[in-house]
Amino acid sequence: MARRTKQQSSEEPGGHSQLTLQVVDHVRALIASGALHPGDRLPPERELARELKISRSSLRAGIGFLSAMGVLKSRHGAGTFVSSGPPALDSSSLSVLGALHGFLPWQMFEARLVIEASVASLAAERATDEHIAELAEEVAEMYAALADPHEYLIHDVRFHRTIARASGNPILAALMETISANLYDGRRLTVENTQDLKQSAEMHREIYRAIRSHNPPQAKLSMEQHLNLARMAQAAESNTPQTLTDTPADPAAGHTALATPSPGRPATRPS
Ligand SMILES: [Zn+2]
Repeated sequence: MARRTKQQSSEEPGGHSQLTLQVVDHVRALIASGALHPGDRLPPERELARELKISRSSLRAGIGFLSAMGVLKSRHGAGTFVSSGPPALDSSSLSVLGALHGFLPWQMFEARLVIEASVASLAAERATDEHIAELAEEVAEMYAALADPHEYLIHDVRFHRTIARASGNPILAALMETISANLYDGRRLTVENTQDLKQSAEMHREIYRAIRSHNPPQAKLSMEQHLNLARMAQAAESNTPQTLTDTPADPAAGHTALATPSPGRPATRPS
């Protein structure tokens, strides 16, 4: 039970997610200010870690998120670069609009729900075998990352991006990307606090199956269920006084969501 063979990736107890967010904000700020341009290489890891006063593993977690969101691209042996490739709307413009016009989180969420449910439906119509294979892989990676919320979220984000691509409509995909990026902070918290990543993985698998069997209404429905559940989890978590850390809380205390397989320690790989 007390096996600890898996790497202990977070050296900063209690601060990991905060630090990850710090990296994300820092890199976003560098891009927004024009200090980094598309195609530019990121400063060396060691340098960035020192600048931000964080460990390299935290830095990597942040870079992993930004890569999953398509902001950064790692090239083997060459370093990490700011993406210059696919069209994406500037997600900060939504934040600015939101600040100006008082967009509310539920409105942002509703927009995501409307767009992404339709995107899933289109994906079920148009997904190629390649898209379907990619989705299968991301679902498998989610199951493999049940004990690692940070890693899990990376595959979660990739799963949704693949569906966006599979929809065959780059405009809808870009809109979705923009909104998702804005909901990123909330999702990060949600996944951090989720007691049952396994249930989440199962919902992704249902979406995947509907797309694989080219069943648009089912894909739409499954996506709606997934997003609504995520919203409920988020709302529940916002009542939690403090941010939970990598160590799951005692399931007996407070969270009645759905029991975690083993108290105190996340499940190992599912069979
Ligand atoms: Zn998801």
